[in-house]
Amino acid sequence: MCQAVNNNPEFKYILENYKEICYNIENAKTKYGRTDHCVNLMAVTKTVEPEKINFAISQGITLLGENRVQEYLSKKDQYNKNADVHFIGHLQTNKVKYIINDVKMIQSVDSLKLAKEINRLSEKYNKTMDILVEVNIGNELSKSGVQKESLFELVKNIAELKNISVKGLMTIPPIGCNESVFADMYELFIELEQMNIDNVSMETLSMGMSGDYELAIKHGSNLVRIGTKLFGARKYLEG
Ligand SMILES: *Cc1c(COP(=O)(O)O)cnc(C)c1O
Repeated sequence: MCQAVNNNPEFKYILENYKEICYNIENAKTKYGRTDHCVNLMAVTKTVEPEKINFAISQGITLLGENRVQEYLSKKDQYNKNADVHFIGHLQTNKVKYIINDVKMIQSVDSLKLAKEINRLSEKYNKTMDILVEVNIGNELSKSGVQKESLFELVKNIAELKNISVKGLMTIPPIGCNESVFADMYELFIELEQMNIDNVSMETLSMGMSGDYELAIKHGSNLVRIGTKLFGARKYLEG
């Protein structure tokens, strides 16, 4: 997974970071008894130059996470096509049309209105879009995501849409939050799985970033989204 196939000295730190993250993921799985989980690693690309992203792909990264529609559109043609792209940022309904044919999954669905627009365009283009429902697990005013009290109803409503396939949940736990928040999220994931809703398969729990991915793995995450720890500090703050 982490073997070197390309040696650009300028980007060597990315390979070092990548190896370290892979090592830490395996360690966390062992330490927390999650060796039955396959934990996928997503490279989060906001503010990162395409050359660095392509280097990461040449080293084995197979999944990219994009936050901003505008930035993605300006960079996507330069990306090596060997990696899939998931949209993970806040998505306005009127911007779905710009990404619907390029991304493999939309992880940030938090309203029926947004889901309906994804469904409408997917139908138009004769496809089915995989989505994750984003949960605002920390109940933070500043964050997107559905409140946990409204999650089950939203998932059931989205499940009615024929050109959408619900594949799991995504969340951004509050920085420095209590570990129980991670446990709450896993509980919701398992509850939904047990509900056995048609057109809903709880395959992916997308949880964990540079500062908390090991803790997220402890609590059942099987997709971690890493930016800073892989590419280094971002040049400007994310909006
Ligand atoms: C920026 C971002 C990440 C990665 O954050 P890091 O702390 O840099 O690893 C993950 N998920 C989402 C939704 C993000 O916006």
